[in-house]
Amino acid sequence: MNDSFMQSYIPMSSIRNKLAVSIGKLAAMSSSALGKGTGEQIFGRIVDIADPNALKNLALNKRVIVISSTNGKTTTTRLIAQAFQKEHSNVLTNALGANQRAGLIAALASSKQGDNNEETFAILEVDERSLPGLFDEIQPELLIFGNLSRDQLDRFGEVSSISKSWQKMLEGYKGKVIANGNDPHIVFSLSNLESQLVTYVDTKSSWHDDANTCPKCGELLSWDKQSHFKCLSCNFSTPDDLAANSNQLIEEVTNSLKIPGKWNINNALLALWACRSFGIPDGTIFTSFGEVKEVSGRNAIFNLEGNKTVQLFLAKNPAGWNETLTHISKGSPRNTIFAFNCNIADGKDPSWLYDVDFESTPLKNIIVFGERELDMRLRLEIAGKKVTPTISITDAIAQCEKNSHTNIVASYTQFLKLSRTLPQLNKEAQSK
Ligand SMILES: [Zn+2]
Repeated sequence: MNDSFMQSYIPMSSIRNKLAVSIGKLAAMSSSALGKGTGEQIFGRIVDIADPNALKNLALNKRVIVISSTNGKTTTTRLIAQAFQKEHSNVLTNALGANQRAGLIAALASSKQGDNNEETFAILEVDERSLPGLFDEIQPELLIFGNLSRDQLDRFGEVSSISKSWQKMLEGYKGKVIANGNDPHIVFSLSNLESQLVTYVDTKSSWHDDANTCPKCGELLSWDKQSHFKCLSCNFSTPDDLAANSNQLIEEVTNSLKIPGKWNINNALLALWACRSFGIPDGTIFTSFGEVKEVSGRNAIFNLEGNKTVQLFLAKNPAGWNETLTHISKGSPRNTIFAFNCNIADGKDPSWLYDVDFESTPLKNIIVFGERELDMRLRLEIAGKKVTPTISITDAIAQCEKNSHTNIVASYTQFLKLSRTLPQLNKEAQSK
């Protein structure tokens, strides 16, 4: 935890606020000293308990931009922040993905009180379920909504409940919105807003399995090849006024990106329209996108012993797994490692694995490990795949031939572990 983070929480003058910060700092330093992370979470929690108005006060006088989505919010946030940092000197963001109340307090408190009089932009990723509970306090002037899909169903219930809670949250909202026009749950959540506030972006996102029925009337939705939806009963449909993503624009976005996958093109399209709405020139936006090589370990490439390279992908839910499988099955076949857990943060119920299309995905040399390796192995064997079970990442990598490339797809808690282990293995290989 750096000094600017500690010293910057000063705009509040009440004794309560100062006390809250002092206690928060102490707790954060203890947490860091004990090696339990950087201290932002504990700082945010303590400040929040000691001063219930902390979040609201910290967001005051900042221009708040919020990115929320089931998939892609961390990457979209990073792309937007990268471009804003080129144009403005005071930009803060929750780059490490701490996207609930405590994380937002810590991010907002990290603002440096510079000598200049320039405004401060807060580019904040916010958990889609937490957003309604803190929306009024942070007063965003721009919202970027990606998608809503099933995620940890055992804990959080159906997607439509989030969509409805967003619709209620947005009553009376006068800021602007950049939204994925191909997601019925997103479009439904915005259906009571004045149309001139919303820019719908045509992402042509291909995952429809969480939106088979109309969020408005419950009848079946029909989808065309362009990923546009229409309810034949109540006419609820993809908005007519989708922002024009010409082929040339999609090509420019695609060419500018260093991060892989169609899903990242969709993230970048949303980020592009968000940056454009603040007048950032396209040239600056594309240059910034090209500077993002990985986002918090997502898509990072490691060089390991035996000239083996591995690329790490995070996949948390059926939508994410299907997008990732589509990506890794392109081109020449590579080794594939699946690292699979079902802890609380992953969702304890893995039955959604049966909604992931392993059947039609060509994969070579599939190796599986993780606490729920058996669930994954069973699913793959039902899909007709030959699988090699292993007990750890080092064992899994040992199964790959020298001079080969391997894609690793990991569930959330495995991804966190591998984000620490793989850089270490990379370092060891380079020092030999
Ligand atoms: Zn309908």
